Amino acid sequence: LKSKLPQVGTTIFTRMSGLAQTHNALNLSQGFPDFAPPEGLARALGEHAVQGHNQYAPMAGLPRLREAIAGQLALHRKVTVDPEEEITVVPGATEGIFCAITAVVEGGDEVIVLDPVYDSYEPAIALAGGRAVHVPLTAGSFAIDWDRVEEAISPKTKLFMLNSPHNPCGSVVSAADLDVLALLAEKHDFYVCSDEVYEHLVFDGRQHRSVLQHPVLKERSFAHFSFGKTLSVTGWKTGYCVAPPALTAELRKVHQYVAFVAVTPVQHALADFFEAQPRYPVKLASDYERRRDLFLSALSESRFSWTPTAGSFFQLLDFADISDESDTALSERWTREIGVASIPVSVFYENPPTQSVLRFCFAKSDDILLEAAERLCAI
Ligand code: PMP
Ligand code: GLN
Repeated sequence: LKSKLPQVGTTIFTRMSGLAQTHNALNLSQGFPDFAPPEGLARALGEHAVQGHNQYAPMAGLPRLREAIAGQLALHRKVTVDPEEEITVVPGATEGIFCAITAVVEGGDEVIVLDPVYDSYEPAIALAGGRAVHVPLTAGSFAIDWDRVEEAISPKTKLFMLNSPHNPCGSVVSAADLDVLALLAEKHDFYVCSDEVYEHLVFDGRQHRSVLQHPVLKERSFAHFSFGKTLSVTGWKTGYCVAPPALTAELRKVHQYVAFVAVTPVQHALADFFEAQPRYPVKLASDYERRRDLFLSALSESRFSWTPTAGSFFQLLDFADISDESDTALSERWTREIGVASIPVSVFYENPPTQSVLRFCFAKSDDILLEAAERLCAI
């Protein structure tokens, strides 16, 4: 069989989590919390299943969950979104992003991605017959270099992939970034696929800027969110996509044949939760900021260098002063030998500028973060 994705193997997250398990290492590689979701959420899931909410939900998502999502967007982003025509509940942001790309990208289209780029975008672009055009983020600051973006735009540009807070860098876009993107999107007539799954994880007083808050971008964007991150339930694989009615209609045409619906009792449990605790996400940033600071202060005697991450639950550490090995080799060796698993960042680039940076997930309990830091300090 001729592979349709010849460059693709098993994801780095699956490989590193597998290696961590084999060697019984502390797993700071794949991004998921090791702590329990908010009180009552798991119980509600069980109760809805017992009560008989076990058959297909409506294709676009349970109306009561879409209402709750519209409430969340009004409360946290001050935007008005129509739950009927602009919100689609999806079985994970990964599926929502796949459906958005599939809905708009045709054979020969180009899609701009910013390196380092989250791993699921390019295979989806390729399967749609498109081509990813890679533009690197500015080394060091991970800011978007808009001059380079404009150079990369061509008459074939159909879509721009935005990710803020960014995985793996943790950088967050500014209001000025969104203004420039809006100008370019209008001038060159392309759509935006905005991955905002870490929207509530922004630190040091920063604000998350959603494309939904920008009047021009809101009209040409798919914005993707994930309950997995916000409620510490990555295994529940439920998120949502917000887009204007015409884009939502096209997204749903794909979604109805990829997954058809998201899981029914999960949607009920999520709706219960947000009806009862609409302000819960406000606390998230300070909780994660504390974990980031705990991890970094425990690393203060180490030989790594870093900039505290601005958002997401990932911290990059540069090991150039410790080893000449490649990040890929070192992440595997440290998983085996010191029992701390991480993700090599070079795998997210078309042309990696360095191979000396590892990504560590700090969505972990304090004792795990402290133990990992102690092992990393001893290198
Ligand atoms: N985008 C980014 C940047 C992510 O880190 C993740 C995380 N897993 C996803 C999308 C996918 O989210 P989900 O688990 O809801 O599919
Ligand atoms: N988004 C998660 C990460 O960045 C992984 C999700 C996955 O394994 N696909 O680690």
